[in-house]
Amino acid sequence: MAELVDAQVSEACGRKLVEVRFFSSAPFLKYAQAIKKKFIFWIVRNNSEHFHFPFSDLGRVGVWIVFRRRTSTFFYIFAFFLPSGWFNCFGIFSLLSEQIQKSITINIVSYKMKPQKFLDYFQNRQQNILSLIREIVEIESPSRDFAGSSEVVNFLETETQKISADFQTERIVAENLGEHLIIRAFPSDAKPILLLGHTDTVHPRNSKEKNLTRIEENKFYGCGVFDMKANCVLILEVLRAFTELSLKPNKPITILLSCDEEIGSPTGRALVEREAERAEFCLVCEPSANGRVKTGRKGTANYTLRTRGIPAHAGLEPEKGASAILEISRQIEKLHSFNHFKIGTTVNVCLINGGTASNVIPETAECSVDVRFTSITEAKRIESEIKNLKSFDERVSLSVLGEINRPPLERTENIIKLYEKARKIARTFDYELGETQVGGASDGNFAGALGVPVLDGLGIAGNGAHTLEEYILIDDIPIRAALITSLLMAD
Ligand SMILES: [Zn+2]
Repeated sequence: MAELVDAQVSEACGRKLVEVRFFSSAPFLKYAQAIKKKFIFWIVRNNSEHFHFPFSDLGRVGVWIVFRRRTSTFFYIFAFFLPSGWFNCFGIFSLLSEQIQKSITINIVSYKMKPQKFLDYFQNRQQNILSLIREIVEIESPSRDFAGSSEVVNFLETETQKISADFQTERIVAENLGEHLIIRAFPSDAKPILLLGHTDTVHPRNSKEKNLTRIEENKFYGCGVFDMKANCVLILEVLRAFTELSLKPNKPITILLSCDEEIGSPTGRALVEREAERAEFCLVCEPSANGRVKTGRKGTANYTLRTRGIPAHAGLEPEKGASAILEISRQIEKLHSFNHFKIGTTVNVCLINGGTASNVIPETAECSVDVRFTSITEAKRIESEIKNLKSFDERVSLSVLGEINRPPLERTENIIKLYEKARKIARTFDYELGETQVGGASDGNFAGALGVPVLDGLGIAGNGAHTLEEYILIDDIPIRAALITSLLMAD
């Protein structure tokens, strides 16, 4: 069950490091970790040669043996084996002097597992994963619903602790909105990898009656299942895989699941930026676009235009009035003229309100403007156009509120590199991972704006985000889980 590949001796920080690499199965690894020192029984003196044992080739692990001090002119290399009859050789362990035993620390710190093996692992867990998804989707957690948010965070925190008591969880209260959840796993001195997601949905309470949580063939329907509750479960499943397979990711993992992403992250933004700044790179587990990851996202800005005119009786003396609605209508035309599809700039009035009664020249009106852009320069240009709008009718006053919300996630060199890495991994299990750039923004935009490499849209494939037709594709779950896990293992 284990095949020694090679062993190397090196020097680091005044310590002798012996690295032993071998292939091994997951149960073996778990066992090896549990027993560590006790089952060391094979000693090779002063060596960096290759050894081969007739065991199967299932995965690859590196074991570092750290000599705290030099106890001999020779270096010892210890290898682990399965608990077969060989393990009756306890006696050999006792041959090691007390002093040497104390001077050795063994840590499994480096590991390469074939992505296909992760895929098998997640395929075997499919039923358990589906029941966890069902549970989380059944908890309704629209943005600004504190109770719903707390309930979903309770669920995730409990599940995390069931996986391992070693994972640190932290809940951050956002007043009147909900609770953010941070999970920290596999700590070390290295910069962590940030996994981003959110627990809020756009669906008001009782929506689940209109899109029942259910499975129909390969589709798992439910409110918020695609965007992105199933992916919150997916993230936990990645942690579980590491734990159950006794593996360690290449870097520490920080998970941030915010509670207000769907409303522009008014309180989540600062947390996203804080954690992203500390991170090596950031994997955003938002829904994929028909399976493709998102290597670029437009930025967003929202504005409200308000007009105030002069009210008058529409029948008796309409000439004395100045219509706020007419003014805002003219402004809407002007706003739409800012659209520049070629460079990806879109300006759309998506809400309008005005007037008081059907026979009164309207005194007030307002509209909401949705603006999207692919560069921050363009965002600033459009913002200045909007903020400098002038009334067509000087009797009507005009005010503009709002600002740039999310900066664009630009497809930088670093993002392409991260995507290429993911694509290579996906190919090992015969999956062609595509990429796309989309108009919708996410918290990945905030991370990207800080120069942190971001790969977005790593979530499970599906469709119908923000609608009552929302679903995920069940057979995509193991693929995404294996992809994320392998990405976290990759050098
Ligand atoms: Zn989302």
